[in-house]
Amino acid sequence: MPELPKTRDRSPHSVPKTLNPSRLWVSHRSRHVPSCGWSDYDGPITPDWHRMADEKGFRIVRRIRDRFHLTLECKACGAHTAVKLFALRDSRPRCGGCAATKRQNAADGAKLVFLRRDPQHHKYGVFRALCGHDVRRQFGFVEKVRKGEVDVKCRVCLIEHEKAEALAQGWERVGPDPDGKANYRLYRHRCGHLQRVARVNMRNGQCDCAACGQSWSSKPSVIYLARIQLSSANLDVVKLGYSANPKRRFRHQLGLSKLAKVTFLRLLPMPTGHDACAAEKQANASLVRDFPDGVVPIATYSAHINVVSEIYRPALIREITTLMDQIKARLVAADTTR
Ligand SMILES: [Zn+2]
Ligand SMILES: [Zn+2]
Ligand SMILES: [Zn+2]
Repeated sequence: MPELPKTRDRSPHSVPKTLNPSRLWVSHRSRHVPSCGWSDYDGPITPDWHRMADEKGFRIVRRIRDRFHLTLECKACGAHTAVKLFALRDSRPRCGGCAATKRQNAADGAKLVFLRRDPQHHKYGVFRALCGHDVRRQFGFVEKVRKGEVDVKCRVCLIEHEKAEALAQGWERVGPDPDGKANYRLYRHRCGHLQRVARVNMRNGQCDCAACGQSWSSKPSVIYLARIQLSSANLDVVKLGYSANPKRRFRHQLGLSKLAKVTFLRLLPMPTGHDACAAEKQANASLVRDFPDGVVPIATYSAHINVVSEIYRPALIREITTLMDQIKARLVAADTTR
């Protein structure tokens, strides 16, 4: 432990009753310094320093370590904090005691027990959650939990929960999404087939197995490129999407007016809805990434077309058909290697 502070230079402030001089708070940047490194340093304390400390809510206790360091006593809580001289001069020194109290209050308010700081990262602490598991969280995050803005979300409990959700649908939760999407997981169907499924779909039972299921995802589907023209609204756009039966359902699915003229420029049959969905998503993502100017802002069409994306300017037709050619080429390649 650091030595007891020896007050050799009295400032005009009285010592608060809560003073606990046995503890010296040290910034995370100086935690590598052993406690013997914080002993007294001989040297004067100028009236100017006293004035600055006073204005910033502190009292100078003594000089320590080397000519750059001081021990400050917080006028609010009485805690002692090691501070660099330039910090006193150029900024508002941070009281280690007040910060610890704030951390403790945040943990209490978040119904967490603060166990220890993370020695690897000063912004993180380890807490015991109500479920009994230990969680590593940012102190700022705990403050948000206290305010009710976010949940603690114990990872161990979350995984247990997801396993039970999957089991109820006849699936086993294998692990995180191999493609790295945060809202997807990898699951194994009872038939042995591995498949990525959005967690929300698993929870709601919308998770048909592409290998053995009898549902949209295992039935044939169609990727389409359609041009939608509505002269009364001066609208001329194209949409890239997929559907089991685009010709029959298109208008209804998109909530189009009878006045809208729909032309299917290209229909690409896909072996399953699952394949169609994956290929269409990938194509739309690459269009948005590579041709942002070709993406029609939602405000332009939201009154006429009931979708929130995948609407492009007709200038992109050639690029979109090229992408559809590539999807077809991949299908043919997969078919011949089967
Ligand atoms: Zn304080
Ligand atoms: Zn837990
Ligand atoms: Zn299956």
